Amino acid sequence: MSNKLAFIMLDGLRFDTAASQMGYMHHLIEMGKASRFKVKSELPSLSRPLYEVLLTGTPVYRNGITTNQTVRLSHEESIFHLTSKNGLKNATASYYWVSELYNSAPFNKMTDRVQLETDKPIQNGMFYWEDHYPDSHLFSDAHFLLNRYNPDFLYVHSMNIDDDGHKFTADSKEYRNRAIAADIVLASVLPKWMEAGYQIIVTADHGMNDDGQHGGTTTADRDVPLFIVSDKLEPGMYEEEIPQLQIAPLACELLGIQPSEAMQKLSLPNLKKVSS
Ligand SMILES: [Zn+2]
Repeated sequence: MSNKLAFIMLDGLRFDTAASQMGYMHHLIEMGKASRFKVKSELPSLSRPLYEVLLTGTPVYRNGITTNQTVRLSHEESIFHLTSKNGLKNATASYYWVSELYNSAPFNKMTDRVQLETDKPIQNGMFYWEDHYPDSHLFSDAHFLLNRYNPDFLYVHSMNIDDDGHKFTADSKEYRNRAIAADIVLASVLPKWMEAGYQIIVTADHGMNDDGQHGGTTTADRDVPLFIVSDKLEPGMYEEEIPQLQIAPLACELLGIQPSEAMQKLSLPNLKKVSS
């Protein structure tokens, strides 16, 4: 395995739903190929603030992205910035708020949907704005970017689980079935990406409650899964709960680059002593 990383963020996927519905991801654990943790999301458990948390490793009181309506470029150093600074290639297939945080805000639908070979923090991006943009199409977009650019860091951000959670609540067959559908999409792309030498992170920003919302402090709002495929970590099912601020420095470790000054020191229990 190289230092390449595909970081997959399934918006709105809460921990217990991932644990009960995602058969392929747990197959990887049973076969000793992946590890799994529970992550406690930062607060508030809202999308845009947590995109910034995941990609910069900074808490909301510092980064200032306090609401979904905070539409401006990030002031922090993101994994996109860090990969560029280290001479690595990056790409993303993501919801348009990711473009607004790191490339340009507000999003212009006419010019910003496809951004390739830019000199901005996100070098190659394909962005969507409909919350029901199919996950199947999104992963095809991501696979195109992987094939075309062979990025060291590929960030993939899906929205269908969150969308069905808001429409039908987390306690619905629609929400659970959407998690299964995402797992099936992963089962179709991850074997190819792992074969291409990619390490894999699969996680979520926040969960979903039984009112069809998130933003609060309950375990339904905050507890999300973290799956990691990397030979830098011992595989297995871990009971430790990981703070969400650990994920950005974990991504840096897997990419073989220095984390930013603002990120926490990485302390996962299954990190192998000698890492390349
Ligand atoms: Zn949501």
